[in-house]
Amino acid sequence: NRNTNESKVDVLIVGAGPAGLMLATQLSKLKIDTRVVDKMAHPVLRGHADGLQCRTGEVFEALNVHRQFDAETHECAEVIIWDPDQNGDIRETSRVVDTVPGMSRVKHVNLGQDRVEAIFMEAMKKANNLEVERLITPTSFKVDEASLDDNAAYPITVTLKKLTPPAEWANGDVKSGMYRSNLFTDESQTAVNAVNADHSGEETVHCKYLVGCDGARSWVRKNLGLELKGDSANVYWGAFDAVVDSDLPTTRMKNVIHSKDAGAVLMVPREDGMVRVYTQMGELKPGERVDRDAVTIDKLMEKTRQVLHPYRIDFPYIDWYTCYEIGQRVCDTFSQYKDHILIAGDACHTHSPKAGQGMNVSMMDTFNLGWKLASVLRGQAKRDILQTYQLERQKTAHQLIEFDRKFSALFTGKAKTAERAGVSPEEMRKAWDDSIRFTSGTGVVYEPNLIVGKPNPWLAKNITVGSHFENHQVVGAFNGHALQLQGRLLADGRWRIVIFPGDIRHSENLTALKVLGDFLGSNGPATKYTPKGEDLDSVIQTLTVFATPHREVQYAAPTLPSILQPTKKPHGIKDFDCFMCDEPSYHDGDGKAYLGYGIDPLVGCVVVVRPDQHVSGVYAMDEVEEISNFFDSFMLVPQSQ
Ligand code: FAD
Repeated sequence: NRNTNESKVDVLIVGAGPAGLMLATQLSKLKIDTRVVDKMAHPVLRGHADGLQCRTGEVFEALNVHRQFDAETHECAEVIIWDPDQNGDIRETSRVVDTVPGMSRVKHVNLGQDRVEAIFMEAMKKANNLEVERLITPTSFKVDEASLDDNAAYPITVTLKKLTPPAEWANGDVKSGMYRSNLFTDESQTAVNAVNADHSGEETVHCKYLVGCDGARSWVRKNLGLELKGDSANVYWGAFDAVVDSDLPTTRMKNVIHSKDAGAVLMVPREDGMVRVYTQMGELKPGERVDRDAVTIDKLMEKTRQVLHPYRIDFPYIDWYTCYEIGQRVCDTFSQYKDHILIAGDACHTHSPKAGQGMNVSMMDTFNLGWKLASVLRGQAKRDILQTYQLERQKTAHQLIEFDRKFSALFTGKAKTAERAGVSPEEMRKAWDDSIRFTSGTGVVYEPNLIVGKPNPWLAKNITVGSHFENHQVVGAFNGHALQLQGRLLADGRWRIVIFPGDIRHSENLTALKVLGDFLGSNGPATKYTPKGEDLDSVIQTLTVFATPHREVQYAAPTLPSILQPTKKPHGIKDFDCFMCDEPSYHDGDGKAYLGYGIDPLVGCVVVVRPDQHVSGVYAMDEVEEISNFFDSFMLVPQSQ
């Protein structure tokens, strides 16, 4: 009962930024008992992060929140790189495409953090009536270490405190974002500390899992005795959103501008005709703090004008501005107390915002964590799978920090000119090209662990075990519609066994499919791990992609084992799209899925895909024992069985 001062909840999330809201949305869709608290009176209303990478777009689709995003985002087609010429004036030196064709069918786009947060908040409210509880902060926690292995226990006890906001951060709809800048003392935390002395308005919450999504100055991290380790580049930058009036011809593209002596600027076109401008402001000596009054919007605009010389740039409207110090820092551990207290997002890693990674990587942390927590809480999986959160995401964080260190040094370094060494246009271009897959989010590959098997490239040479399952278009066997195969793998907590039997007009392929289907139907993981009375595809869904035209599949379908067949849904509705064909569609071309995945249609294979669309393993059609053993290693037989 949330009106009394003592309550229980399965998952308590501290922090309702992109990481916390992604987790809250996923858990609410999976109907997990969750609370999310935030110390601020309001969500982000302007500015902050704005880049949504390709993989993030794919994940939004998997969570079925993409339609709102699609309607609002702004796409940027090209990146223009500018460098100084002999006269010291900037000139275009190269142009690259922003989203490399073929990398993902979802493009890299921009949308303000305020809208991203708002869309998540709508989705979680709709899914499970979950809302952010504002002006609340934890003030202490304690852990009952004796009950950490007891799935029924609530081993973490957190004291929450209702805050009265100080006037300066009660209204977030202000143009200056300085009050959240990492250059200055965190005023909101000062306010929190002030109320700590008073114990009125406190609530005790017993939870199974506590997740700190509370940003770079994470309370949860600090109270675990952990710190972010790494360096500061001793450089500070300004960022602002504005309408621009300029004779630079490329303001609706992304511009990476290196001036001779005035520093660098990155300009990114945004929705509503605005432009995000990042401007290199100055250097700091170790330990030096910036004088807050020295960073004004006038100074940010002036510095931008100097870099763009000889082009003119004016800013008729400023929507938001801030400044920040560049640093690349990561926490040694993302998880404590046998994975009952976890941290995610900026709480575990910070870096410069210019490559548009912060919001994306933070959301991907909790996208990785959410379904794992849900499967443990539902009793479907052993708690051991939670260890893979840190294994997988810490490596990604280190890659991000490494990338950002190199990228920021190039960005901040002086441009090469005839008289001096420095960053050359070729170096800048190469760095951009080399990083594009990683920065799109599609280059993340998890190493073998409990839920990622060993690579098996000879069966599907273009499917990377540990990477996300890429998309190829197929055709629905029963309705002839063009379908996006990746889009069929919704983030609804279910595992997928995707069978590529080849062309079942060949008797060997048909026989192999029937043998596999008979095994899966009688003794396979779906039969073993689905609670009695639930649909056989509710925990592990089986999908089949034939290298056979749909007309033939329609006639062959009744002879196939029942586990492969469209499952009866409530009200008798069948999911007919579990049978798909690799063939040309009437209106949307030919997806060539077998070719794209590198699967020989004469041989076929089976791909096991996790609920977050990452590939766990690729198996031969007859490796039924191996498939079973894989699921047996981490899944739990439902207690009712
Ligand atoms: P955050 O977004 O920081 O969210 C943390 C949440 O936790 C906040 O809502 C906060 O109020 C809450 N919280 C913190 N402490 C407590 C507590 N004790 N109790 C309760 N709640 C708490 N990235 C870019 O890509 N481009 C940019 O231009 C850019 N500009 C930025 C400008 C500023 C001023 C800041 C702060 C960040 C900026 N970032 C930018 C970074 C980007 O916003 C983050 O990488 C991203 O938001 C990380 O998401 P998160 O959910 O992990 O953390």
